[in-house]
Amino acid sequence: MKIYYDDVFLQHKPNGYHPENPNRLKIIRKALEERGLWQNVVKPKKAKVEDLLKVHDEEYIDFIRKSCQNEDFIDSDTYVCRESWDSALTAFGCAIHCVEDAVENKDLHLALVRPPGHHAGKKKGVAFNAPSLGFCLFNNVAGAVVKAKEFFDRVLVTDFDVHHGNGTQEIFWGDLSIIHIDFHEYGIYPGSGYVDETDGSKVNIALPHYCNDDDYIYAWNEVVEPILADVKPKLVLVSAGFDAFKDDGLATMELTEKFYAFVGSRLRDYSVVAVLEGGYSIGLERGLPAFVEGYVEGYDVEGVRPSAKVVEIVKKLREIHDLR
Ligand SMILES: [Zn+2]
Repeated sequence: MKIYYDDVFLQHKPNGYHPENPNRLKIIRKALEERGLWQNVVKPKKAKVEDLLKVHDEEYIDFIRKSCQNEDFIDSDTYVCRESWDSALTAFGCAIHCVEDAVENKDLHLALVRPPGHHAGKKKGVAFNAPSLGFCLFNNVAGAVVKAKEFFDRVLVTDFDVHHGNGTQEIFWGDLSIIHIDFHEYGIYPGSGYVDETDGSKVNIALPHYCNDDDYIYAWNEVVEPILADVKPKLVLVSAGFDAFKDDGLATMELTEKFYAFVGSRLRDYSVVAVLEGGYSIGLERGLPAFVEGYVEGYDVEGVRPSAKVVEIVKKLREIHDLR
């Protein structure tokens, strides 16, 4: 496992309380240090504006650059400060850097970045009628997707953040070479990501409130595994949010270490680039290390008992995407 981290990610900070704050990375660092996992730390490369232009429109990039000249909220949820530009460019560059390394070395490449990215879309930032940018400035994982396309015909990105990765979906909507599989809680921010919302290669695992490990593991086994078996990627990109962990704070899902360790373990066959998205408290402290340990050590699960509602949703998804 390699960690990609820079103190510049602590510089993007709110004036007053905000759930998306530098302490998130301090929580992660402490949790990994306690487990002896804070090692192989790589200093990430910073992106250039020309890299951003492969994902976002120039007008939007200019808007963010100008906004970062002041300490301000750019919408109801999303703040910037003078240092945010450097943080955001380094976060975007970090995701690209991870892909460059991941194609050379099969391993888990963990991009511990801020600000997060998966809600940021192409044109105006805000994607699919979302009310805001949801704490995101540039779509870091989208930068990784574009870099990965230089090496592979098809690129697979999976997003287990509790919120729909509407920005990532918007940026690659209509591009069937990008497979985007997104787990999210239905009925919360940003409002998009219906089960039947697809262009053919976007898979929305929209789950009801209060789902647990078994619900998620069942959906992974029945939906994600057949797609992985079909695509046979060498590299898997992950929008790694940990806010579906029980009591993390922004949602109702009830995941524990079990699901994250399971997913880490299921991805051991691939080189993985995991780009941090959300996760605000206990999810970072316990979910993220479980994911890493699952990848490094493996993790077995047996006797999965999903709810009837989730079985129904999964059945629908398997029909929509012709999975067998
Ligand atoms: Zn989230």
